[in-house]
Amino acid sequence: MQKIIITLDGFSSCGKSTLAKAIARQLNYVFIDSGAMYRAITLYFLRNHIDWNNNESVQLALQAIHLDFDYNDSTGSSDILLNDENVEALVRDMLVSEHVSEVAANQYVREFGVAQQQKMGEKKGIVMDGRDIGTTVFPHAELKIFVTADPAVRVERRFKEMFAKNPNITIEEVKDNLEMRDYIDSNREFSPLRKATDAIVLDNSNLTREEQLSTALQLVKDRLSAL
Ligand code: C5P
Repeated sequence: MQKIIITLDGFSSCGKSTLAKAIARQLNYVFIDSGAMYRAITLYFLRNHIDWNNNESVQLALQAIHLDFDYNDSTGSSDILLNDENVEALVRDMLVSEHVSEVAANQYVREFGVAQQQKMGEKKGIVMDGRDIGTTVFPHAELKIFVTADPAVRVERRFKEMFAKNPNITIEEVKDNLEMRDYIDSNREFSPLRKATDAIVLDNSNLTREEQLSTALQLVKDRLSAL
């Protein structure tokens, strides 16, 4: 069966990764969480006190960063490795969430991320989620999905997820963080978050995970039969 590239873009906490992971599992494709890559770069910058507004420091720091993914049997998806250290749990931290959009707006950080993501898609058979995957990383992807959900639903979902790890977190903090990231991601100069003109919108506010998956698999089927 011919393998294609599937992209899922959208605002924060729309459930893109969950859906992308399920599609990849079903099709036996590789799933890549591109956001984890920007989160790992942010963690490196925070740890090493790199000023992400200084392009010279950023370029130098990027030379010391090696990102990789390692399949985790217990979660059924890949963990992000930063210079061979598994930082999957650390990159989900609020401190990283607070700064990741500023870091991801840097031109050199974007070039670094996009080049690696494009390499990962060379053999196709990949499902990648992010913000600019259908527009910048794989503008010729065979299937592009733009995932949306009501803002209140997104806040609720992210709050539940974060609260399970940190009971001190408030819903206001989560809401402010999502709004701030969406604003920066949509308004940055390089690779802003946009729906690709040929992307199909999937609003999952009122859909179960199973319903989302079956909708997406139908889109894959339609696309494959049209090739
Ligand atoms: O997907 P996730 O919420 O983990 O992404 C974290 C952040 O990484 C986003 O808010 C965005 O700033 C950045 N990102 C990006 N481009 C992507 C994926 C994520 O700029 N393709």
